Formats: sequence, C-alpha cells, structure tokens
Amino acid sequence: MRTVVPRAARGVFGPRFAHSCAAATRSPNRLSKSLGSGSSPNLSLALGTRTGSRGLSSTARRRDDKVDENENYDEYQRKWSTPLAEQLGKAISATGPVPLASFMRMCLTGDMGGYYTGAIEKGRDQFGLKGDFVTSPEISQVFGELIGIWFVAEWLAQGRQKQGVELIEVGPGRGTLMSDVLRTIQKFPAMADSIDAVYMVEASPELRGAQKKLLCGEDAAMTESKVGSHSVCKYMSVPIVWTENIKSIPTSAEKMPFVVAHEFFDALPIHAFECVTVPPTQSIPQDEADRSSPSTKTSQPTLQWRELLVSPTPPESTHETLHTPPSQSRDTPPPDFQLTIAQAATRHSLYLPESSPRYRAIKSGAGPGALIEVCPDASLYASDFAARIGGSAQHPKRKPSGAALILDYGPGDGTVPTNSLRGIRRHRRVSPFAEPGLTDLSADVDFAGIAEAAARASEGIELHGPVEQGTFLQIMGIQERVKALVAAAKARADAGDKEAEGYAADVEKAWKRLVDRGPGGMGKVYKVMAMLPENEGRRRPVGFGGNVSVEE
Ligand code: SAH
Repeated sequence: MRTVVPRAARGVFGPRFAHSCAAATRSPNRLSKSLGSGSSPNLSLALGTRTGSRGLSSTARRRDDKVDENENYDEYQRKWSTPLAEQLGKAISATGPVPLASFMRMCLTGDMGGYYTGAIEKGRDQFGLKGDFVTSPEISQVFGELIGIWFVAEWLAQGRQKQGVELIEVGPGRGTLMSDVLRTIQKFPAMADSIDAVYMVEASPELRGAQKKLLCGEDAAMTESKVGSHSVCKYMSVPIVWTENIKSIPTSAEKMPFVVAHEFFDALPIHAFECVTVPPTQSIPQDEADRSSPSTKTSQPTLQWRELLVSPTPPESTHETLHTPPSQSRDTPPPDFQLTIAQAATRHSLYLPESSPRYRAIKSGAGPGALIEVCPDASLYASDFAARIGGSAQHPKRKPSGAALILDYGPGDGTVPTNSLRGIRRHRRVSPFAEPGLTDLSADVDFAGIAEAAARASEGIELHGPVEQGTFLQIMGIQERVKALVAAAKARADAGDKEAEGYAADVEKAWKRLVDRGPGGMGKVYKVMAMLPENEGRRRPVGFGGNVSVEE
C-alpha cells in the first residue's frame, strides 16, 4: 500500500507557504510484492498471448455485423477505463502483447493522453495534495538548497571554473528544485557568474509551462530554436532552455555540467523478464532481426529469459477475478491490462538480460522463476551524463569536469529490482494497469545498473554511493539550515507576522520527513548517487564520505 504520511510543509514564506495535510510520496514504503494487476496466479493463468487469456463473446459478435468475422470483437464492445486504454487495447489486438516498457512509455509520455503529457484534468498537476504524490523539493525548500550547496562545493573542489558552467535538470516537475538550487547559487557570485545556461529536460508541455512561470515569470518571452524553447531566468538572468530529450542539449569539451535527476529515473520505462526452463530441442522462434544469430535448438533443458508482456484482461474482469490486492482496488475500476509471459524469446529477451554479468548471475544462481527488471533508458541517460562529465570516444574532453546527482528510490545494495512496478493515483497505491494515462507509474531504480552504464560510457568518471537520503541531507547540514529558518520565522512571528506563526512547527515536520528512516519517512528508502570526474579515489564528495575542499 502507498504510505500516507503526516502533515507536510514547504518551508518558505509567501504563496508556496505550508500546505499541510496527508500526502503520499511515490516511494515503495511498505510495498506489497505483486505483479501488476494481480499476483502470480494471474500470471500463470495468463500465460501466452492475448487469445489464450480472453474469450470471445458471442453476444458481442451478433450485435456488430460490421466487424469482420475474423476480428476479435471484444475490443470494440468492451468498456475501457480511459481513451488511452481503448487505444492501447485495440493496438494490442492488432499487433499482439507489447513489452512492459512500450506500455509504460505510452502511459507516461505518449502523445495520446500520457500521464505527463496530457491526460490529467485541466488546472490539476501531478504534485501536491490535490495531485497524486508529493516529492521532496515540494516538501521543503531546504532540499533544493542543499543540492545547490553540493554543486557549489563541487565547483569549488574542481577549481572554480570561470565560465562554461551548465546546470541541467532532467524531469524537473514544477521547477521547484531548480528554483531552490538557483536561489542558493545566486548567493555565491563567483559561481553565479560562471553559469552559461540552465537546461531543463521535460516531456510534459504543461510542466514546461509551470517551470517557465516559476523560473522566468509568466510574461517572459519564449523563443524557439533547433535545440528547444529559450527564455531568461529571473535568477542571475541566465539563459534557460527547455528540451524534451537530453540528447538535444549540445555537448562541448569546455563545459562543466552539473546535472540533477530527482525522481526521474523511476519514471523511465522498464522491461521485465522471468527465467524459465526450456525443454530440450525446442526451437525458439526469433524475430527477423535475430535470424543471423546462432541456432537456438537445444539438446538439454536450458534456462532462458522470457519477457513479461502487457495484454488486455479478459472482458468483464473484476478485481476478484484478477486477484487485485484489496488495498489497490478501492475506488478504481478493474485493470484493463495484465502481464503475461511471452511463450518465445523476444528481441529484448535475447539481449537485455545478457547485457550485464549481474543478470547472468541471477539466471545461473536463482534459476527458474527469477524475475528482473531492466531499464535501457536509464542506461542511456547515465551514459549521457557520464560522457558530458568525463568525455567519451565520440566527445573527448581534455579534463573531465562537472558532476551529477541522482536521487531516487531503489535497492542500495547492488541487487537488481524485481516486481517493483507500481501505480499511484491521488496519494494511493493502485494497480499499474488501471486507468492508463491517469495513473502514475514508477519502478525501483537500479543504481548499480546506472553505475555500470556510466562506467562503460566514459573512463573519465567515477561513482559514489548510493547513500541513504537521510545520511546525505544530515551531512549536508539540513539540521543547521532548518534551525536558521526556524529562528528567522520566530523573529518574524515576534515582530507580528501572522503567517510566521506555526511556520516553525511546519518546517520542523517537513525536514524530519525527508530524513526519517521509519516506514513513513523518506530518509532510508530514497538514495543518492554521485557521478564525478575520475580522480583515482583521491577526493570523495561531500555527503559521500568527503569534506569540502577547494582546489587552488
Ligand atoms: N523532479 C521533480 C518531478 C518528478 S516526477 C520532483 O521531484 O518534484 C517526474 C518528472 O519527469 C516530471 O517532470 C515528468 O514530466 C518528467 N518525465 C517523465 N518521463 C520523462 C521523459 N521520458 N523525458 C523527460 N521528462 C520526463
């Protein structure tokens, strides 16, 4: 079940001040392990393609004489929970079950009513009490301030470059984190002067609008170029550029990029695989693209990965027939889709689970029934960060520079995420296959996978962590910063500022939630990983075992 946690307050005066009420984060606190819409019985029931898991309704057939005899009528007759569900259902009827990653991509950022790209009602966004979940930057300004300080510390430690500094945020939500980071950096004029541009990588047009309003003001002019949409930031008057993909941001050997990804990687589409025993001499059908690979006929039973695919649930399904966990079925229609296991190898099952020794060890160690989740987009983003910071064969860099901070939830011990896909709507855990386009989807982040991809992409970087968010924020001085805010609030309250009354208490609660290691807190579940220029382990960054240092 989603965790509902007590009062949250964003610790600032003014319009953003203190929304206080229960709000859920997207982290997997107290996650019950279940595969999608149902649990494992559902999976075995639904083995195979959609035809195996769905019956044709004869009444439906009689009623629609326009539909060809060979077509599956159910897609035309059944009631889908959202327009996107209908579109996906019909597409899957035509093409067969689709990889989980394709389903997630359509649901989150697809053109036709994806969660971040359109389906949410007008005037409502994903965040805060009226939305679906709450995130750390929205809980307290201190979160973004400390990330700003961390970047300042890195800039100092890396020799105070005078120009060419870039700030890049992927998945910036409402823009709150970047606003807090920039307000903090503004207090360090030498670093502020070194900033060439701020880049915001954002898929959602609505959120791009919200970010622009916050960072530039509603009336600020916007211009378009090949790279993206440009405006000027109210902080330090630096140019700010929005792109939909990090690849659109130009690379240059002279730049010092500081990248932040907060709750971004968990929103990237994952593929899921299950290890199965394949009987001897079974010939494994392959895609066109794989015909050139060696024969897969076997004389011994072999262990192979099979991809978990998404197909429609049988028409007239109920939460009971689908075994939806009771905690996920309240006020939600029965899921339109479910996971099924592919009967044969797919293009992805042939190469993704073979791409890392970690997956191979699971196949030989855990054997049949083992599940893994693989996120190729996470590897692409990690490789991009690494190449920007450390240089690569394609984009060599004389001296690696910059840093990236990745904050998200997922295993911190190097294990591969399994069974972690979850749906979130209005602060509650729901089936990820219910109300596509209205339901937020996320999955645990494979920090070790990110580290592997980054290390492969560039020899000029090194990785630190992941460490727990609670530890990171404590070392970064969250308590001291909160003390200062509370003291200032009390002084204002003494001077008659009504709003400041109660503010101190809200700030206290908010910061505690960010570092709390208990089930309702974010201190343990959320992790922080840092990517730095390679320095042969001579210097550890602040928050990861190192001190503030200044390179002269
Ligand atoms: N970092 C913010 C928002 C987290 S929600 C916060 O902590 O408050 C995820 C964010 O990533 C949203 O802004 C969403 O629109 C964006 N996003 C999700 N998938 C994306 C993709 N594939 N490309 C670019 N942005 C994406």
